[in-house]
Amino acid sequence: MEQFSKNCIFCKIIRHDIHADIVYEDNDFFCIKDINPKAPVHLLIIPKKHIATLNDIDEDDFLVMTGFFKIPKLLAKQFNLAGYRTVINVNPEGGQEVYHLHMHVLGGRQMKGDLG
Ligand code: 5GP
Ligand code: ZN
Repeated sequence: MEQFSKNCIFCKIIRHDIHADIVYEDNDFFCIKDINPKAPVHLLIIPKKHIATLNDIDEDDFLVMTGFFKIPKLLAKQFNLAGYRTVINVNPEGGQEVYHLHMHVLGGRQMKGDLG
C-alpha cells in the first residue's frame, strides 16, 4: 500500500523534502513545531503513514494509533508542560486544513474552557 501522498505537505516533511523542526520521532510517528503557533508550545503529532483524516484509519492501523495516547506525555515532559490541550480537527467543518491526520498539542499558556 502507498504510504506517502505526493502532494502532501506532511509527507514531504517526513521525507525531508521540506524543512520542519522535528522534536520527536519513532517508527510510526514524528512530531514537529507548528509553523503558525496558537500557543507558546504548539506541536503536531503525525503518523508517518499518510492517513487523510481520523475517519480514514484502517482496522489494521488502530494498534499503531495508540501513539496518539503515548506521545503527548513524552512531549509534555520534553517541553516542561504541566498541562496541555490536544485537538484533532476533522474535515472542513471541523477546521481541518492539512489532510494528513495529526494531533495538535497546545500548551505554555492557560488554556481556556471554550473549545470553539
Ligand atoms: P489543521 O487545521 O489541519 O488541524 O492543522 C494544520 C496545522 O498545520 C496548522 O496549525 C498549520 O499552522 C500547520 N502547518 C501547515 N503547514 C505547515 C508546514 O509546512 N510546517 C509546519 N511546521 N506546520 C504547518
Ligand atoms: Zn501525507
